[in-house]
Amino acid sequence: MAEPDILHDKIAPNAQTKFHKWRQQHRSDGWYLNPKSSSEFKLHSATCPHLSNQYWDQGVKKPDGKSMTGTKKICSTSRQELENWAFKEAAKRGKEVKLERCLDC
Ligand SMILES: [Zn+2]
Repeated sequence: MAEPDILHDKIAPNAQTKFHKWRQQHRSDGWYLNPKSSSEFKLHSATCPHLSNQYWDQGVKKPDGKSMTGTKKICSTSRQELENWAFKEAAKRGKEVKLERCLDC
């Protein structure tokens, strides 16, 4: 099985641009995880309203410099792939995974 794409400002300075494009391309079939800790994740659909504001909708940073990928975004078109990834991440740290589905998307 393929690995999900991990987009994070700390890994790549253009992560937000990539994430923005990915969300546009996968409006109907994209999923991403937002980590709350090394073993807790929230599962969102690509179009989740949590990331919607006048700046991020255009793929640019907020005036205070905050970007969508300041927190890691783990992206895939397969929920199963994301669930497997989250399970492995938690297991690496000897923890049980906590995966919640966002209620707003
Ligand atoms: Zn959501």
